[in-house]
Amino acid sequence: MLRMNSEKTCPCGRGRDYNDCCGSLHGGMPAPNAEALMRSRYSAFVLGLEPYLLGTWHADTRPVSLDFAAEPAMKWLGLTVKRHEQADADHAVVEFVAHYKVNGRAHRLHEVSRFVRQDGRWFYLDGEFPGDA
Ligand SMILES: [Zn+2]
Repeated sequence: MLRMNSEKTCPCGRGRDYNDCCGSLHGGMPAPNAEALMRSRYSAFVLGLEPYLLGTWHADTRPVSLDFAAEPAMKWLGLTVKRHEQADADHAVVEFVAHYKVNGRAHRLHEVSRFVRQDGRWFYLDGEFPGDA
């Protein structure tokens, strides 16, 4: 588990202190909405928090594990949330673009993610990849 010092800016791009941002969600606080959960999952990817990622993945679509040990490693560079739409109280869509590098080459992930809320907690369900637009 990676320890962050208290003055570290959160990786999710909101410019807040990690402990006041995704850190509290990583510590067990429920995400207030799907966008907050999505940002906290991006931060968890940056920090390699596999248990958090699996724990916020819907049981129907959750993988058994995530391959953080894969080589070459992905280096996450930044996140931009483009859209957050709440369809009803328990369903939401978040569209985002994330940038990362593998082997020094830059890549761009553009995803429209679906989220559902169960028992007061948001979960990542699945995503579509609209391609570059
Ligand atoms: Zn954050």
